[in-house]
Order: sequence, then C-alpha cells, then structure tokens
Amino acid sequence: MSGPRPVRAPRGTELSALGWQQEAALRMLQNNLDPEVAEHPDQLVVYGGTGKAARDWRSFDAMVRTLRTLKQDETMLVQSGRPVGVMQTHEWAPRVLIANSNLVGDWANWEEFRRLEALGLTMYGQMTAGSWIYIGTQGILQGTYETFSAVAAKKFGGTLAGTITLTAGLGGMGGAQPLAVTMNDGVAICIDVDPRAIERRIEHRYLDVKADSLEHALRLAVEARDARRPLSIGLLGNAAELLPRMLAEGAPIDIVTDQTSAHDPLAYLPVGVDFEDMADAAAKDPAGFTTRARESMARHVEAMVGFMDAGAEVFDYGNSIRGEAQLAGYERAFAFPGFVPAYIRPLFCEGKGPFRWAALSGEASDIAKTDKAILELFPENESLARWIKMAGERVHFQGLPARICWLGYGERDKAGERFNDMVASGELAAPLAIGRDHLDAGSVASPYRETEAMLDGSDAIADWPLLNAMVNVASGASWVSLHHGGGVGMGRSIHAGQVTVADGTKLGGEKVRRVLTNDPGMGVIRHVDAGYDIAESVADERGVRVPMREG
Ligand code: NAD
Repeated sequence: MSGPRPVRAPRGTELSALGWQQEAALRMLQNNLDPEVAEHPDQLVVYGGTGKAARDWRSFDAMVRTLRTLKQDETMLVQSGRPVGVMQTHEWAPRVLIANSNLVGDWANWEEFRRLEALGLTMYGQMTAGSWIYIGTQGILQGTYETFSAVAAKKFGGTLAGTITLTAGLGGMGGAQPLAVTMNDGVAICIDVDPRAIERRIEHRYLDVKADSLEHALRLAVEARDARRPLSIGLLGNAAELLPRMLAEGAPIDIVTDQTSAHDPLAYLPVGVDFEDMADAAAKDPAGFTTRARESMARHVEAMVGFMDAGAEVFDYGNSIRGEAQLAGYERAFAFPGFVPAYIRPLFCEGKGPFRWAALSGEASDIAKTDKAILELFPENESLARWIKMAGERVHFQGLPARICWLGYGERDKAGERFNDMVASGELAAPLAIGRDHLDAGSVASPYRETEAMLDGSDAIADWPLLNAMVNVASGASWVSLHHGGGVGMGRSIHAGQVTVADGTKLGGEKVRRVLTNDPGMGVIRHVDAGYDIAESVADERGVRVPMREG
C-alpha cells in the first residue's frame, strides 16, 4: 500500500529492525507522522508550514522497509525525504545520513524550490520534521520558557515575579507565551484579535483568565504583580490599537514582545478591518491588505519602541515585525533587538541549546525516571529544576513520551552517559533517542534569527553547520541531517541536526559521550571564533581546544 494511512511507532522492546540504532530511526520517523504529533499526517507534514518527514508515501514505505533490514555496518542515504542508497560503512558510522531541501545559492528561493517540489524532486524538511526528532508543542513551550527565563536572568534578578509582560499573538506557537511567563512567576497580558485563540489557550491551561476590557486586564495584572503572584490574562483586541493606547495611558509594563503572525502580512489584522472580515479582505485585495497590515505593524512597533524609551525591556520574537514595520516606512523599527542577540546568544556561547530525548519504550515512566536523573545531575540549576518539575506536571505527551531541556557543553554528555547507564541497568524499559532541534548553539547559520548580529559580522557564514554535521558523523551519531531553509525560509538558513541512541551498550555509551561533547562544542568554538568573551571563558574552563588561541 502506498497512500495515506495512520502511522504510529511501535512501543516496547521487541525489535522490528536488526539493532536499536536502526529501530530508533524507524520509530522516530513513524513517530513524526503519528496523528498525535504531526499537523497534517496524511500529507506527511509534521509542523512548520509544510515541513515533511518523507517526500511521498512510496518513499516512506521504502525507508521503513530499508530500515528494517539495514545491517549494523550499513548506512541509508536520504535525499530530501527519499531513500536513494544503502552503503557499507562501519559500526561507528551513522545508520542514516539525511540531506533535505538544499539548493545551490543562486537558486535558493521559494519559487525554484516550489518548481522542483512540484516535479517530485525535493521536499521541505523544516528543522526536526525531515530529521525525525519533532516532539510536539513541548519544544516551543520550553524554548519560550527559556527565553523568558533568560530575560529574567538578564534584567530582573532571575525571576519575573513582580513584573508585567505585554505581548500579542495566542496562535500555535505564540500560545506558549502566557504559560512560559507564569512558569517564570510573572504576569502576562496577551492580546489577540481572535476570541477562539483566547478560549483555546484557556481550555489547554496555557492561559489563566480572559479580561473584559483593557482596564480590567490592567487591574488584574497590577493586583497580581503587587502580590508577586503569577497570572496570565487574555485580552481581545487589535495589538496595533491597544499598544499605542496603553503607552499613551502610561500602563506599567516591564517587558514587551510580540508573536502575531507578522512574517505574513496577510495573516496580520490591520486596524479598521473586523476580524470576521479578515479572510475575505485578504483574498479580495492582497496588495491593499498588505499595505494596511504593514501600516498597522508600523504603529504597533512604534508603540513597542515607545515602551522601550520609557524603560521597558523590548524584543522581537522572530516574527519579522521589525522588517515589516520598516517596509511601511517606520525608521526606528530596528531600535530594539531580536531575541537571539538579546538573550539567547550568551547561552549559545556555553554550547547551551534545546537538548531532547524520546523514550522508545513508549513508557511515560521512563521519562519520569530521566527527569529525576536530570534533577540529581544538575541540582544547582534552579531554572532547569523549575522547568523539569513543571513539565512533569503540565506537559501532555504527544506520540512517544519525550522531554526537552536546555543543556550546554559539559552537561549534555553527562546526561547522555547517565541515560545510557540507566538503559544498561534495566532501570529504563528500552533505549532513548537523544537529539535536538537544529536551532542550536553551533549548528545553524540564519542571519535573521540564530546568527543575527554576530559580533564579527559573520551572520551569513554557513561553514559552521556543515562542520557540525561532519563532526557528528565522525563522532558516532546514529543519524545526521543537513537542511536548508528551516524556520525562516528558503535562501535564509542552513542547519544541521543529530540524533544518537543510548542503547545501553558500551559502544553506545562511547558514541553518546563523544557526540554529546563535540556537538555542543561546536557552539563554543563558533562563538570563540566570533570573539565572544563568554565562549572564551567556557573554552578555557571546560577544556575546549581552539587552535588559534594556542601558541
Ligand atoms: P499563528 O498564525 O498560529 O498565530 C498568530 C496569532 O496572531 C493569531 O491568533 C492571530 O489571531 C493573531 N493576530 C493577527 N493579527 C493580530 C493583531 N493585529 N493583533 C492581535 N493579534 C493578531 O502563528 P504562530 O505559529 O503562533 O507564530 C506566530 C509568529 O511567531 C510567526 O511569525 C512565527 O514565525 C513566529 N515564531 C517565532 C519563533 C522564534 O523565532 N522563536 C518561534 C515560534 C514562532
């Protein structure tokens, strides 16, 4: 059969492949397409617009078939979601090598990509869709939590208690904002034009309450702030109207950001258009709608700059709202920074990024045991402990149980080795697949996001993700992927990923130790090379060798 059908990874310890490395790739490929995990599994789309796990159903079937018979010294090659070869390698080599969506520079645009995609020659792999390590919305919640936690560390003494954050956008990704703020003990006012977005977030317990009016929202926020009580408040309205009004009225806001879908002007509601009429208005006159949306974004960003001038902490959350406001002629659009240079880069300098693992047993208790192990391994890291405890209580698993947390150089390998020991001793029911997002410390070149405003101007240098992929191949990863265009679109990023299986064997432990040392090590050396002091100290303290600093 070669058509859409429900896919679900097998659970338990019975192997359908010849070893756990192959079995892990097989289960994680299937897990990405589990209806609990994927946005549109029938079209093989996992998340992020059209990010796919396999090019077509025939390719999916061929990958499953091949993985089931792949030997311990063989490697399957995947070209944009299609298995194109099996080569004899050796047992330290990855069992799968993946290249997705890559195009030669001058051809690297959506138009050419769509043309080739229509010919059946390529697919969009996003970041973790085509590399088989997507774990559902837990990823965005943790990333947002980590960002607000970094804001707290940088500006508010390590906690958001006693602060009010103002943001807009309670959609698929933006909906993580209220919970991420309250997990950091803060108060959030979250604006959205869509009443259903507000209701949905309350239903899913990501948002606490809905205010009846702006005045009501501010009253609730101030009361909670004064009591240092976490609270998230939904407020119905257009951000381009409400932010200027709140600024004019002197609303006591400490932090401002935004996650409306500003990257697509047809998805941002302009002032003067009713929400119910939005789809029609955008379809009838896309050019006119775009102009009006950009004008509204300019007012929205102008108010954000106003809050910044009044002393608030303001940042762009990766939705291109500054660029759109600039296109509308607002000159100070880039007066506030993007979230990576503002908060995340210091973490990247330490090799920190979104480390994640999935329990191939399918047992939630395996994740509970690894959570406990993480708390024991890093007792001094309060923010990590808060996340792990809250995630254990509040995150609903999608597909195979999984966990994500940010760990850096010298930490990931410790966690990985402990996990491998736990598999070896039988404490865990089955092996773990340990991987990460491509959005990581040393694995991505993306000048509008992860590598915006590098100290040495090296934003667009893409040698780093290539080196990252190669070092993971050389270190013993179970599968390695090299993609183009994830997150920010064609022509704008190149990035690499790895997944390594803790299978409880001695060899598995050796591979885990090397990969989970060298992979975050790329983040440290990339930032040493760009001249970041923090990265230099980390390299010195933790013994990362950088030839240009020796001798
Ligand atoms: P989405 O389309 O699911 O949700 C957007 C929300 O914005 C909708 O609920 C919509 O009603 C609301 N909205 C539109 N215009 C508005 C206006 N004028 N005022 C108030 N609300 C308005 O999108 P999403 O998946 O939540 O992503 C949001 C944005 O954040 C995207 O641009 C995405 O690229 C970006 N994003 C960035 C990162 C990152 O870099 N860390 C991560 C996730 C998402």
